[in-house]
Amino acid sequence: MKIKSSEFVISNSEVSKCPDSKLPEYAFIGRSNVGKSSLINMLTARKSLAKTSGRPGKTQLINHFLINSEWHLVDLPGYGYARVSKSIKNTFQKFITAYFEQREQMLCAFVLIDSRHNAQAIDLEFMQWLGEHSIPFCIIFTKADKLKPKALVRNIEAYKNKMLEFWEEMPKHFITSAESGVGREEVLEYIENLNNQFIK
Ligand code: GDP
Repeated sequence: MKIKSSEFVISNSEVSKCPDSKLPEYAFIGRSNVGKSSLINMLTARKSLAKTSGRPGKTQLINHFLINSEWHLVDLPGYGYARVSKSIKNTFQKFITAYFEQREQMLCAFVLIDSRHNAQAIDLEFMQWLGEHSIPFCIIFTKADKLKPKALVRNIEAYKNKMLEFWEEMPKHFITSAESGVGREEVLEYIENLNNQFIK
């Protein structure tokens, strides 16, 4: 998919105030510092699209961007921060769970995972929650350029093995780098295919 246009639409904390639109949308979510803003900028080929809504106080909001006048890219608040919570319910604001439960046009949540790190409970719990609520998701491994190729393969394999403790199969996943652009085509193509199925 070629990105012809991308624009910021609205930030808010209430699902009811999200754009009144039936366009397909894709949510991007992960621990803070996972590389979400960088990935969004890389995908949209904009230097600071994600940052336009990233000023202080705006980071805990649901941010909608309109891409190619065709679909919404949704930048959700980063979770995790310094506090480690026992349960996803404690760490997620209610509006995030409300977002996933109510936005029927949300076709896929992209859960971002730093490819350098071991599987973290908060991410595993979050994906568990998505699964329990039948919310479709993919994993996007970020910052692939920070690892040597062999270490990258080893880490992804280890992550997969961890996932297989809970899941019958490894969810669809992408390996990306905002630095090199690796994975950009694959993610955009995946979105394009889902968009086409949605329209039919
Ligand atoms: P966010 O908090 O999830 O939005 O994360 P940011 O996009 O702000 O990235 C956090 C830090 O990781 C920043 O210093 C980025 O420059 C760095 N970073 C993000 N993505 C990549 C990547 O693909 N490669 C490298 N080398 N650094 C990255």
